[in-house]
Amino acid sequence: MAGTSAESGQSRRPSAPSLAVIGAGVAGCALAAGLRRGGWDGPIDLWEAGRGPGGRAATRRSRQDAGWHLDHGAPLLNLLEDPEPDLVAPLLQGGWIVPWREPAAALQADGTLGPAEADPLLGGSLYRGHQGMDDLCRGLLALAQGPPASLTGHYGTLVRHLAVRPEEGWRLADANGAVLGEADWLVLTGTLLAHPRAMERFGWSEVPLQRAAEGLGDGALEAALAALASMEMETRTNLMLTIEPAAAARWLALPFRLLSFDGQAQRRWGLRRLSIQPLADGRCGVVAHGVTADEAPAMAALEGAVAGALEPWLGEWASGGDGLAGVSQRQLMHWGAAFPVAPGLPPAAMVCPASRVAFCGDFIAGPGFGRIEGALRSAQALAGRLLALLLLLCLSLGGPALATAAGAVPYRCDGDLLLATSDNGAVDAPGIPNSAAGTVPGATVLLEWRQLRLQLPRTNNAGPPSYTDGLWWWSLEDPQQPRFLHRRGAIERFSCQAIAAAAPPADGR
Ligand SMILES: Cc1cc2nc3c(=O)[nH]c(=O)nc-3n(C[C@H](O)[C@H](O)[C@H](O)COP(=O)(O)OP(=O)(O)OC[C@H]3O[C@@H](n4cnc5c(N)ncnc54)[C@H](O)[C@@H]3O)c2cc1C
Repeated sequence: MAGTSAESGQSRRPSAPSLAVIGAGVAGCALAAGLRRGGWDGPIDLWEAGRGPGGRAATRRSRQDAGWHLDHGAPLLNLLEDPEPDLVAPLLQGGWIVPWREPAAALQADGTLGPAEADPLLGGSLYRGHQGMDDLCRGLLALAQGPPASLTGHYGTLVRHLAVRPEEGWRLADANGAVLGEADWLVLTGTLLAHPRAMERFGWSEVPLQRAAEGLGDGALEAALAALASMEMETRTNLMLTIEPAAAARWLALPFRLLSFDGQAQRRWGLRRLSIQPLADGRCGVVAHGVTADEAPAMAALEGAVAGALEPWLGEWASGGDGLAGVSQRQLMHWGAAFPVAPGLPPAAMVCPASRVAFCGDFIAGPGFGRIEGALRSAQALAGRLLALLLLLCLSLGGPALATAAGAVPYRCDGDLLLATSDNGAVDAPGIPNSAAGTVPGATVLLEWRQLRLQLPRTNNAGPPSYTDGLWWWSLEDPQQPRFLHRRGAIERFSCQAIAAAAPPADGR
């Protein structure tokens, strides 16, 4: 499959199947990271309409004012389900995300404060990006780095048209029809190209993926498109305020950095949440999340609502004549598709192998739906399923993208791809030749997992094959769930499952 680099306009011919991932939000970046950590070295192109990574978990920054930045979408992420998504630990280790330890409260309609835990966006383990929420996606992209030129981000680029030719793969084009790139696989991490709302909102004449799918005869893709087309989205309008240092001191002394409004308080003030974000130079940003409305509320109405709700704490600072005192900058952000409405796209519909289309994002049904947790979990699930499919495709093409020999069996072990290549001949495992002094090794298994390449000799134990070098142990009493152990003082046990190509995951993710 030929791919076209948007920067150079030149054609390249990668030896491994290529992926075009539409969207560099949490799901797109996490998918790239998950594929890399699973051993995929093939080319991944991220196509993003925004100026940088982040999507709805982006940070708005200013070219003129280096000290100004606001998390204008999600101000934090919360994990409600166990175990945590695999990528959370390396993100914490790399310092990209940190635990969120700010005070939070819930405002009730009578103006009193209560505990905030009832808010589904504030339960469980809370984290934020280290220096803004966009650090989450930056960290994921750092984890997604592979061989040179294997990950390319194309920012400020709206993909408008899609076309597919069965033998040649997917072609992406801009609004003028100019070709942006080509790829074997297309992954959508947002619904824009598959949902009729773009026809109403931008006057598009068709739903791009629906148009491209016509004539493919892929029932799985048609079913996914039908489910996506019926999905509803909640809108949000957020007011962003920048508060000068003298007034900011009052805001920063409030007993909450995040204030959620309970149901009745939402009806009284027309607000869902307030997020107070300190800036380095004594200023602070305030983001007020308005309630869903068909008509976007006016800036002055939102600011009046903030002043009214905070009057008990801010006193005279709550109203400075035309609005709140000390405000140096006001902006509105309208999110046309802020939150998907349940039930979402069933996990079984995430992969359409016949047309080489896949989906991930917070719109996939399951744990974390409509939140960053769902974007991470769906990307992790899709990475696992694509790895199995890409491995098969790669082997059929004879490509080297997964450094493996024919006959490798894929497993998922503690969240990461493991390739097991057993060799019953009197030869060394491929890639580790050792016939020193004329020795002839026996049957072995080569395990490739994370950064490890282990060649384990077959034990003499009767029954199903088992392999060990005294430190590592691999045995196949249950070929679907091999035993994989490591002796390091105590015995460490890794949970392994065989990867069934294109099969929906058992847990719905
Ligand atoms: C105001 C607000 C507050 C929120 N608060 C929270 C919270 O407190 N906690 C929480 O967990 N979640 C929160 N969320 C939800 C959270 O932001 C999302 O669940 C999460 O960011 C979704 O990530 P994603 O990658 O699935 O989708 P997105 O972030 O939407 O990423 C998809 C990306 O694809 C790009 N894209 C789409 N189509 C195209 C195209 N044709 N061409 C190029 N690029 C394209 C988009 O620009 C976008 O960047 C909030 C959301 C909003 C709007």
